[in-house]
Amino acid sequence: MSDVGIIDRAVAAALPLVPTRLVRTFAAPYIGGETLEQALCVVRRLNAAGLAASLDVLGEHVHDEAGVRTMVAAYRQALAALAAGSADSGVSVKPSALGAAIDWDLCHDAVVEVLDGAAASSAGGGRFVRLDMEESATVDGTLALYRRLREEGHERVGIVLQARLWRTSGDVKALADLRPDVRLCKGIYLEPPSVGMQDREAIRHSFSALLRQLLRGGSRVAIATHDEVLVTDALAAVDEYAVPAAGCELQMLLGVRGDLARTLRRAGHRVRIYVPFGQDVFGYSVRRLRENPAVAGHVARALAADLARGVRQGRRRPGGGGVR
Ligand SMILES: Cc1cc2nc3c(=O)[nH]c(=O)nc-3n(C[C@H](O)[C@H](O)[C@H](O)COP(=O)(O)OP(=O)(O)OC[C@H]3O[C@@H](n4cnc5c(N)ncnc54)[C@H](O)[C@@H]3O)c2cc1C
Repeated sequence: MSDVGIIDRAVAAALPLVPTRLVRTFAAPYIGGETLEQALCVVRRLNAAGLAASLDVLGEHVHDEAGVRTMVAAYRQALAALAAGSADSGVSVKPSALGAAIDWDLCHDAVVEVLDGAAASSAGGGRFVRLDMEESATVDGTLALYRRLREEGHERVGIVLQARLWRTSGDVKALADLRPDVRLCKGIYLEPPSVGMQDREAIRHSFSALLRQLLRGGSRVAIATHDEVLVTDALAAVDEYAVPAAGCELQMLLGVRGDLARTLRRAGHRVRIYVPFGQDVFGYSVRRLRENPAVAGHVARALAADLARGVRQGRRRPGGGGVR
């Protein structure tokens, strides 16, 4: 982001120290609700405006099998509800929420259960399941999981590639035989310079080049960015390669640049909104707030007010505990 002050950047970096309750307040626009019912209302509202959705059950880095079972059940319930409401929505899953942090075979079996739920929830091959991409240490495992699923015959599953990673062009080549359905994004996880580009323009350049590499290879691409420079460039690439309407879509996050999403939709493009919901809002919210240092400035002021209140009331820690 461009016009970001040093103080705002510092606050953004300190976000993990902010009390959960404050993070929840500031992150509310990015979250589809705490319950499935609330998220379904958001999906219905988006669909009514001509926007598709992808539901994400919040949660990550699940370290016990019972937690994985809970996640699978939540996804299957969400898929059944999407079917009941004939919603225009797939789901996005984080491998670490489905057991990757424990064992990739366990994660594979959990994803297959979600895919079975997705297949049952829609005619015509089933609802689409996207494997989100997480920290760079999980990329090899996630790509291997994707390949295994495709080689087992699962077709309604897609992958995410992160433009900031140095390795991604090689990954596109390695995946070419699968003609993968790819969500291309900049990549949210902070990676060291040996792993990921740090410069905003370099990441843009990489995004633009990867998009063309994917289109040349015949991939269907979900162009996931709110960066207007990249959106303009992507639409030019789509024209350049005469990509049919079904061959690409634009994707954005709930609560970010809704104006741009609606403008693109009005211009006739397919646009999908990522709708996270659930109780475990902290990790996702901190990542969103970090990308919006203007909000981080508000957080700093609220935190200062909270601290002052705490001191007056004799509280020892900001937010009365709950700092993570
Ligand atoms: C649908 C979707 C799915 C994604 N899935 C993944 C994934 O699986 N793995 C992964 O690593 N990353 C994922 N991302 C995140 C992505 O990698 C970027 O971190 C994120 O999209 C911000 O980058 P940008 O391209 O929008 O550009 P930026 O330069 O960050 O943003 C462009 C403009 O958008 C606005 N903006 C962006 N973020 C915010 C915000 N939080 N609040 C307010 N305004 C904002 C600002 O106006 C900003 O100037 C996903 C993004 C989208 C849209």
